[in-house]
Amino acid sequence: MEKVISVCPYCGSGCKLNLLVENGKIVGAEGADGVTNQGELCLKGYYGWDFLNDTKLLTPRLRHPMIRRRRGGEFERVSWDEAVAFVAGKLGEIKREHGPDAIMFTGSSRGTGNESNYIAQKFARAVIGTNNIDCCARVCHGPSVSGLMATLGNGAMSNSICEIEDTDCILVFGYNAADSHPIVARRILKAKQKGAKIIVCDPRYIETARVADLHLQLKNGSNMALVNAFAHVLISEGLYKADFVAEHAEGFEEYKAAVAKYTPEYAAEITGLPAELIRQAIRLYAAAPSATILWGMGVTQWGQAVDVVKGLSSLATLTGNLGRPHVGVGPVRGQNNVQGACDMGALPNTLPGYYDVSDAEARARFAEAWGVDSLPAEKGCSITEVAHRIEAGSLKAYYIFGEDPLQTEPDLGMMRRAFEKLDLIVVQDIFMTKTAMAADVILPATSWGEHENVFSSADRGFQRCYKAIAPPADVKDDWEIYSLIATAMGYPMHYDNAQQIWDELRGLCHLYTGASYDKMAGLGYVQWPCPSEDHPGTPWLYEGRRFDTPSGKARLFAAEWRPPLETVDAEYPLGLCTVREVGHYSCRSMTGNCAALQTLADEPGFVQIHPEDAKQYGIADQSLVWVASRRGKVITRANHNPRVNAGAVYMTYQWWIGACNELTVDHLDPISKTPELKYCTVRLEPIADQ
Ligand code: SF4
Repeated sequence: MEKVISVCPYCGSGCKLNLLVENGKIVGAEGADGVTNQGELCLKGYYGWDFLNDTKLLTPRLRHPMIRRRRGGEFERVSWDEAVAFVAGKLGEIKREHGPDAIMFTGSSRGTGNESNYIAQKFARAVIGTNNIDCCARVCHGPSVSGLMATLGNGAMSNSICEIEDTDCILVFGYNAADSHPIVARRILKAKQKGAKIIVCDPRYIETARVADLHLQLKNGSNMALVNAFAHVLISEGLYKADFVAEHAEGFEEYKAAVAKYTPEYAAEITGLPAELIRQAIRLYAAAPSATILWGMGVTQWGQAVDVVKGLSSLATLTGNLGRPHVGVGPVRGQNNVQGACDMGALPNTLPGYYDVSDAEARARFAEAWGVDSLPAEKGCSITEVAHRIEAGSLKAYYIFGEDPLQTEPDLGMMRRAFEKLDLIVVQDIFMTKTAMAADVILPATSWGEHENVFSSADRGFQRCYKAIAPPADVKDDWEIYSLIATAMGYPMHYDNAQQIWDELRGLCHLYTGASYDKMAGLGYVQWPCPSEDHPGTPWLYEGRRFDTPSGKARLFAAEWRPPLETVDAEYPLGLCTVREVGHYSCRSMTGNCAALQTLADEPGFVQIHPEDAKQYGIADQSLVWVASRRGKVITRANHNPRVNAGAVYMTYQWWIGACNELTVDHLDPISKTPELKYCTVRLEPIADQ
């Protein structure tokens, strides 16, 4: 049996594993001694590999290029030559007729790797001439990138996953590590065992709340009020580090004025928390010699998400918890390579290496390297704006790479109606997802395990994955597919392997220059910035308390609290929050095809409801119910759960039937364009005959 080093393709924890290969097939996985996981894996790491054996438990593997000549018709198997010529011809036609900005692209945050994301955005920018490329960071940690960019000048986690266990205090805000990043949850537990104080701010009694010193069970949608109240206490009680703020921060007086009215008593009215508990929590955080803030979707999937991220960043600044080990701000990125897709420039406003598209010098440098006269300077379209642009007639084609927007975007009815109006839908993927079923052209790609690539983990760590098995005969590497279409469109593009692509990228981005394949060989882990060959990489940012803002100082920020878009009423009396479940991931196209993970949950999802609410609305435990919002209704099973707060219900979004995104609302944060997936109003209807 052969052991091939890889990185788990699910969450951003970056766990290294060995794929066990026998007779050309994957037969198992075991933990490898990676920097973040130290030989441990969660159940997705151990059992999430057999989709590679095309189990067809949920959906079949895409094995050949296919074209559908009319909507609603059958897919027809075609040769690669025909598929490439068809896509190149159609994209060229749409570009000529409507301009480059009539075409939209996605990057992919899943098992495709950084090299293919780099090529995807190069194709969009250099071949088509548009910045219309985005990735699923838009629906998860987009606000973290925007908020941290604005306050600290860098959108990534400031410190490392492995540092978490040695911090003295962890403020866990809207982050259910046990379900979304079990290996990060393990670090939180180790910190607790070493004596750290744990503060959890979450409407649910999540697993981490069980080990917390304080659990602040705030009302859904009140994050900003709580963060402002924390700042108020720090300032009014003199708990902040005045010297650090004076030397390394700016905007203190405006910030102080903005939080002045957020006394704990005032915030108590909004959050539903006792004022004294708010005081206790932030006193605990301020008193710790080192403190870390970790957050997840409970912070970012709101209409006021960027403001809250800026507020959390300001708490770390006020208390001097930046620029040294075991402290910092930690947006723990969701999908395994969502950090990488952003690093590679699969975003509408940044080139690879986070050069802004408005930066003329950077554009000129990339244009010269890519052999084009110029690159577009205007920010492109976000994936959450796609439906509106299609409706407005300005988007005509959508090239979707390793994403499933007809499962993962809010208000799926709206998305489906918009998709019907597109002239061209191209899907490049490994499985027949819901989005692939709506495509005009399907381009089948190699999967994680079938190619080599580099991933970025949530803490900026680059790691190599090695090829373990041969792919199906008629599929191609993602970067090769783009290269063939580019060449057919008159832009010759050719690479022999992924390393050539990586080396081209390193030559263009000072953050990554020293992160060579050699340095990342085996279990190697290189955290950017890594500006030269002899640089070891950067476990924690802002050494010398010099921030990446133009002034070198951190910016303090507070905003007025805004309520969620929808409010409960007699017709829709409950707030719906979308959550994760530990055994499945994202749109479930991979974990849904893994036999062991399928046995964990064998029917479409659940809606968690507090027993008191269930009694009030006549909902029996484990009964089938309709869940209805202003946009649609789905059927699922009720789960009485005392760990959720009254007045709110919770659903996961993985399931094809009962997909909760039929219900969610297309309300976006004004800056990051991230949807308010954590709140829309619903009612539950019992189903009489069961
Ligand atoms: Fe994979 Fe994340 Fe589990 Fe690690 S914690 S094994 S990266 S799913």
